[in-house]
Amino acid sequence: MNDCIFCKILQGEIPSKKVYEDELVYAFYDIAPAAPVHVLIIPKIHLAGMNEATEEHKALLGHILLTAQKLADELGISKSGYRIINNCGENAGQTVFHMHFHLLGGDTFTSLV
Ligand code: 5GP
Ligand code: ZN
Repeated sequence: MNDCIFCKILQGEIPSKKVYEDELVYAFYDIAPAAPVHVLIIPKIHLAGMNEATEEHKALLGHILLTAQKLADELGISKSGYRIINNCGENAGQTVFHMHFHLLGGDTFTSLV
C-alpha cells in the first residue's frame, strides 16, 4: 500500500487534476486519456482491485457507479453515451492495484462485449 500511486494521489504526494471528491471517493483525469473524457474514480480506502471487494463494500461500489453517472452528466457525455470500466487482474490489463473505475466518453468505442 505504501507504494500505491493512487494512495499517493489521495494523500496529495502525486499531483492530479481533481474532478470530484467526497468522503468516500476521489475522481480525477487519467494521465494518459484513452478518450476525450477519461476520468478515474477511486475509493478513498485502499482495495487492490475488485477481487478484494466484499459485502461490506456494497454501498461503496454503488456509490462509485452513481458518482460515475453524475460525473457523466456534469461532463456532458450522458446523452452521447459513456463506458464505465473496471479492469481486474493481469488478463484484463490492470496496471494500478488500487481499485478504480474508468469513465470514458466523447467518442465511439469499438465493442469488446
Ligand atoms: P488500469 O490499466 O489499471 O485499469 O488503469 C490505470 C490507469 O491509471 C491508466 O489509464 C493510467 O493512464 C492511469 N494512471 C497511471 N498513473 C497515473 C498517474 O500518476 N496519474 C493519473 N492521473 N493517472 C494515472
Ligand atoms: Zn492505494
